[in-house]
Amino acid sequence: MRRKNKRLAAVLAAVIFSAAAFLSVVGALRPDIRYGVRMALSEVSSGIKVKEVSPSQLEMKEIDLRDFEINDDLILVNKDHPITDQEEFEKSLADYKGTGVLMNERAAADYSAMSKAITDDTGHELWVMSSYRTEQEQQQINEEQGSATAMPSGCSEHQTGLALDLYFTGYAGGSILRCEGGRYLADNCSQYGFIMRYPPAKEGITGIEYEPWHYRYVGLPHSKIITSSGMTLEEYLDSLEEGKYYSYGDYILTRTVSDKVMVPEKSTVEISRDNCGGYIVTSKVN
Ligand SMILES: [Zn+2]
Repeated sequence: MRRKNKRLAAVLAAVIFSAAAFLSVVGALRPDIRYGVRMALSEVSSGIKVKEVSPSQLEMKEIDLRDFEINDDLILVNKDHPITDQEEFEKSLADYKGTGVLMNERAAADYSAMSKAITDDTGHELWVMSSYRTEQEQQQINEEQGSATAMPSGCSEHQTGLALDLYFTGYAGGSILRCEGGRYLADNCSQYGFIMRYPPAKEGITGIEYEPWHYRYVGLPHSKIITSSGMTLEEYLDSLEEGKYYSYGDYILTRTVSDKVMVPEKSTVEISRDNCGGYIVTSKVN
């Protein structure tokens, strides 16, 4: 009996040792897998949290949304929230540094800074595989690739100019995280207003499989909140309730469906459509 137990313990130890050895070899050879597992299992903490605040705690003034230029930073586009006004997005497109790569003009400025930081810090150069797509181009991709990786026409963020499929020379698609530049991008994108839009283990929410190459511009501070909390854009927008106020660092956020809204008196205000019938108002307190 005792001998049997000893043999069992020896077998168990061998199994555990082999599993640990296997995982460390996989971890060493495939930093992308290691990275994906870490992202799926752990929530990164930024130290700053979003807090609900009462507007009575702040000095406020009323603004009329119609006096502001409305942007698309936080627009939700998926199968449940298709876009119906393709022309609106075309108005905000910029030709990135004259390369012929079309992207949203707000995203372009921050993309430029992010791309430079990656090259300065890692020596790797970031490239755009796919950015803005017309309705017809999206339709064609959906027919070719199927709906697990490509949204039907009208439901793709690529039609907004806010989504970018990125790569490094020799490291495209699922292998992007095998490159040091790719891991730097994933770790630092939120500083520049970008999020990894389809993270691992969130397919049930986003409707799209893990895509470590697809980045979406949402602007600051939203990129930092989304990334540090481990939420998807769907979950983040769900967490912002209409009429409530939230603070994050120097920012006060609120969501509204009406034209008039209260914002902090001394603040710089930016307003985004949400494609859910309302607006997200982002005020940076001066
Ligand atoms: Zn994409």
